[in-house]
Amino acid sequence: MEEFTIVTIGSHSSLQILHGAKKEGFKTAAILPKGREEFYGQFPFIDKILSYRDEDEALELINGIENGILIPHGSLVEYIGSERVKKIRLPIFGNRYLFDHEADQKKKMKLLKDSGIKIPEQFERPEDVDRMVIVKLPGAKGGRGYFVSKDRNYIKQRIEEYISKGWIKSPDDVIIQEYVVGVPMYFQFFNSIMMNRLELTGLDIRYETNVDGLRRLPPGMSAEPTFVVVGNLPVVARESLLPKAYNYGKNFVKAVEREVPPGMIGPFCLESIVTDEGDIVVFEFSGRIVAGTNLYIYGSPYSWLYWDEPMSVGRRIAREIKMAIGRNELKRVVT
Ligand code: AMP
Repeated sequence: MEEFTIVTIGSHSSLQILHGAKKEGFKTAAILPKGREEFYGQFPFIDKILSYRDEDEALELINGIENGILIPHGSLVEYIGSERVKKIRLPIFGNRYLFDHEADQKKKMKLLKDSGIKIPEQFERPEDVDRMVIVKLPGAKGGRGYFVSKDRNYIKQRIEEYISKGWIKSPDDVIIQEYVVGVPMYFQFFNSIMMNRLELTGLDIRYETNVDGLRRLPPGMSAEPTFVVVGNLPVVARESLLPKAYNYGKNFVKAVEREVPPGMIGPFCLESIVTDEGDIVVFEFSGRIVAGTNLYIYGSPYSWLYWDEPMSVGRRIAREIKMAIGRNELKRVVT
């Protein structure tokens, strides 16, 4: 595998990705914003560190990697911008046509709906709200700016405030979604083209301030819940939930195949709330590696069942690419 270099942007899950790539015998390269060289330089599994001053330079560095394969993660678009991502000439592992879907909350929810997965009720306008809802801003970084309410006037007022602050252009830019009461569980999957199977690679919970801190308030005190992601916690699910989640994963793969060719390749995540009736309600998906997989650099309880060896999602990606190269089918796992 030495003739190929696995490349990624130094952030999000890059250590896991590059560590896994080295384990599978690839050369590795990290492309980072200036100032991070010393930190990333500590790790012997990174062969080449290239740093950039601005996003244009980042794109140039990516495109300059010979025989490179880029692994996209959650920070790729954020770091170099969606327009530059379109100009990446390296093969990208996974389906690059999903990026546009991921950037658009409405398209995202449609894809989930078309999968036949249970999703929260959606409201077009504040006037339609008839229960507790969560109001989401587009492209919100890690849940910032979200709020919960069931008061139509309050919702209208907050939306107007967001328009006057320039956070959004029109009321149509927000998503008003039923607030599902239960506990969050994020099901991480890997759709393997080479093995023609869907794997459950792990599960996590996002640790969000301050909604996860409200239970620390003394009795009688309250604060508005906010949803700013600051970390991830490991979790395993009650085993009887797994077949249902797995079927959701299968249905999602089929919908992506129909609507966003060439379909789902590699890691994705169904982000859900599990209710006290055992319903799994999916409010969001990620079509690539999620940061919650960083919990399992040594493998998760589930990846152990498939592999009997430490298998992070980063390594699983490299294993898939290795299998594809071995069969002369790299084109089936990159776009
Ligand atoms: P998102 O940006 O859609 O991933 O949402 C950020 C966080 O808001 C999630 O991790 C959940 O804690 C919470 N959240 C989002 N949508 C819902 C929902 N429909 N019901 C309950 N909580 C939600």
